[in-house]
Amino acid sequence: MQSPLLDRFRCLNPACPDVDQLGLGNIRHRKWYETRSGRRRLLRCATCGQEFSELKGTALWNVKLPHEQVGNIVEHVTRGNSFKETAELTHTHRTTVSRLTRVTGEHAARVHDHLAQDLQVTSLEADERHGFVGRKDQPCWEATVIDPRCKFIVQNALGARTTDLAVRLLFGARARLHDPYGIVLFTDGWLPYESLFPTVFGRPYQPERQGSRGRLPRLRYRIPRTSGHVRIIKTYQGKRVTDIRIERAAGSQRRVDQELALLGYTTPNTSAVERHNGTVRRMNPHQVRRSLAFARLPHVRQTVSDLVNAVYNFCRVHRSLRVKLDEPVGRRQYAKRTPAMAIGITDSVWSVLRLLRTAVLPTPCRS
Ligand SMILES: [Zn+2]
Repeated sequence: MQSPLLDRFRCLNPACPDVDQLGLGNIRHRKWYETRSGRRRLLRCATCGQEFSELKGTALWNVKLPHEQVGNIVEHVTRGNSFKETAELTHTHRTTVSRLTRVTGEHAARVHDHLAQDLQVTSLEADERHGFVGRKDQPCWEATVIDPRCKFIVQNALGARTTDLAVRLLFGARARLHDPYGIVLFTDGWLPYESLFPTVFGRPYQPERQGSRGRLPRLRYRIPRTSGHVRIIKTYQGKRVTDIRIERAAGSQRRVDQELALLGYTTPNTSAVERHNGTVRRMNPHQVRRSLAFARLPHVRQTVSDLVNAVYNFCRVHRSLRVKLDEPVGRRQYAKRTPAMAIGITDSVWSVLRLLRTAVLPTPCRS
């Protein structure tokens, strides 16, 4: 009889026929073994015979610190504390915080890649936040695509504010969607969004060749009736917005109106992503305004950003996502939800340790 406890684990051997399958009963408990951070199970896959630690594929594998302390470090960093402040608050060294942030941030990105697939999304909002790495003259913008209905961060991209940033952002977001041809995209007036929209969210087709010789004409893109792109173009005088112009760049007005009604908006806007900008500037130490927490290396910036996004999506409840309970529990009238719960990836609020303990297949590291 298989212990229900062992059903939490799965084989992560890519060559195994039962790879990444839960509840098949192929995982056996081999023995306990001692580590510096406590007693661990050694598990064995009965299908392929491979033995592995119960922490294999999690962020806590080979971590020497007590796991609660790792959780505390992540909590502190994702509440906008610098590495130095976090080290002082958790009685660790600054380099320990930096190393664990990298390990947990890379893990967080893998969890997002693994779980944020096939998303049922009908509209997206995109925006970029300014930041820098090392020195102020080395800008590192952080571009985000968010689902305004569930407040779920679909995709994030870091780098200079060039077309390449928009390419990585929009193609990355598209790859995670169940139906990329049913999207209404709300953006600011940044031109790459407009020029990329047909390539990313349009259907490619091959135009007829003129005559019978020569190479075929270049692929063209047809924008489906089910999608649209609205630009919200703001004119600034100094820091003050003097004028807002709303422009439908692609798709039909009917589809845009239908999406606005679904979202409960009267006019097109990018309020969800702009509100999220404020949240991130509280959560990510490198985005806090007038702080002394500088990212000196690009990979630190990337991993902190990945960590903050995963904690936001899976661990932080969002007030606007709460749902009224059928029957109040004591004085509690609402059930709290995280963006990941609203979009249907999970049905509970995750603790940071739950995020770190989620096992995912190791993927080749990003360039
Ligand atoms: Zn196996």
